[in-house]
Amino acid sequence: MVFDLHIGVLAFPFGTHAGPLLTLVQRLAASSPRTQFSFLNTRVSNGSMFNARVSVPYENIKVYDVWDGMPQGFWGNHFEAIRLFLSASPDNFEKVIEKAEEETGLKLCCLISDAFLSFACDLAEKRGVPWVAFWGSASHSLSVHVHTEEILKAVGSTEVTKQEHTLSYIPGLTKVRLSDLPPENFLDKNPSLLALTINNMVQKLPKSIAVVLNCFEEIDPVITNDLKSKFKHLLNIGPLMLGLQPQHLILSSPNPRALDDKTGCLSWLDNQNKPRSAIYISFGSFVTPSKNEVMSLAEALETCQIPFLWSMKDHVKKSLPEGFLNRTIAYGKIVAWAPQLQVLGHSSIGAFISHCGWNSILESICSCVPMICVPMTMADHKLNARMVVDSWKIGVGVEGVLTKSKTIEALNHVMFSEVGKSIRENIYRLKEKALDAVKLDGSSTKNYKKLLEIISAPKVG
Ligand code: UDP
Repeated sequence: MVFDLHIGVLAFPFGTHAGPLLTLVQRLAASSPRTQFSFLNTRVSNGSMFNARVSVPYENIKVYDVWDGMPQGFWGNHFEAIRLFLSASPDNFEKVIEKAEEETGLKLCCLISDAFLSFACDLAEKRGVPWVAFWGSASHSLSVHVHTEEILKAVGSTEVTKQEHTLSYIPGLTKVRLSDLPPENFLDKNPSLLALTINNMVQKLPKSIAVVLNCFEEIDPVITNDLKSKFKHLLNIGPLMLGLQPQHLILSSPNPRALDDKTGCLSWLDNQNKPRSAIYISFGSFVTPSKNEVMSLAEALETCQIPFLWSMKDHVKKSLPEGFLNRTIAYGKIVAWAPQLQVLGHSSIGAFISHCGWNSILESICSCVPMICVPMTMADHKLNARMVVDSWKIGVGVEGVLTKSKTIEALNHVMFSEVGKSIRENIYRLKEKALDAVKLDGSSTKNYKKLLEIISAPKVG
């Protein structure tokens, strides 16, 4: 295959960052068959995506492993792994870019990277090519980073003291409280590595040719317009999981029966008696709730006897009350990993207890499932929960420490009360907007076409 253009794609290999970026690249590859996309990511992250969940059916995507910075036999926590990876960057990426250029016989004409990897801006500048930054999350979470300086000025100090302070002066964020913000928003005397990474990103993003988001404009038009004024191009192209077919952007409707149901989640859901009678629980790919939180949830489920499907990593099971698994066997199912998108799309699911990762929220919206928000103090989870509960009103929150009684109250609200009914109406309206955005004349489709134009005819500046 002879290619006309060569585009480098740099992934951030932690959490669920790399998956949506790969989805985007698969779509670009389908739309632009004469462009080679070199996808650079660590071996472990590539392995988990390509072995388990995603295939690369396109001849014009070539996957490369970059060094993760870890010494042989490394056994450390998540943050240490990120630190080592970032210390090895960008040299690890540069080496592989050179290899990809040599193998393809084409110099890069554009660099697309996870927005976290803002050194891609310098790599692109050095090569005289444009940089496209991918923010795989929502516009509101980008906005709080972009407006950090104003927030700090309004608070009056870098110390986070006024927890009830609301961001009424930031377009679209009037409901957000200071205490909802990601810890990385604050560069204090000893900033964390993630805080520094995000601060660098904020400095570099205005230099990018486009900032691309896995979000849709209509979810927050005020925030969208504000962010549009900050960047050369702000392109919301989501929700990415609403599929784009090769050459065209059309809705895909995943057929659950066509998918492997190894864990039996879908057949378990088939066996539930009534529509919207069961709940789904997941804390995403890397967050682990505390023992107390697991206990509170479990006790609430047992008291209410609501059918539940719980995606729970094996090591979390030891936090369950003794005998819980046996006592709930008639109405509960626990699996280490669920086919979440298909689960949420099943008619038996009536609510989703979630840690509020952005992908989970998008999947919940697109499946029209109300959320019970149990955010952890990590990344954008609390911020997302605030938007779900107070801005879009598509879920209920559990404020403060999670307890059995708060969980029962939230379950009753969402599953059985008028509040639940109005939440379902709100989420239905938002889902319609998401579907409209990816129709042929929708905003996400137009933005995607703009992105294609930008990467196909790259010019610096
Ligand atoms: N997920 C899944 N099965 C599970 C748990 C999670 O498929 O049992 C998927 C889920 O559908 C979502 C992603 O993992 O796409 C989690 O992403 P999110 O942004 O919600 O949270 P994170 O893992 O980044 O904290």
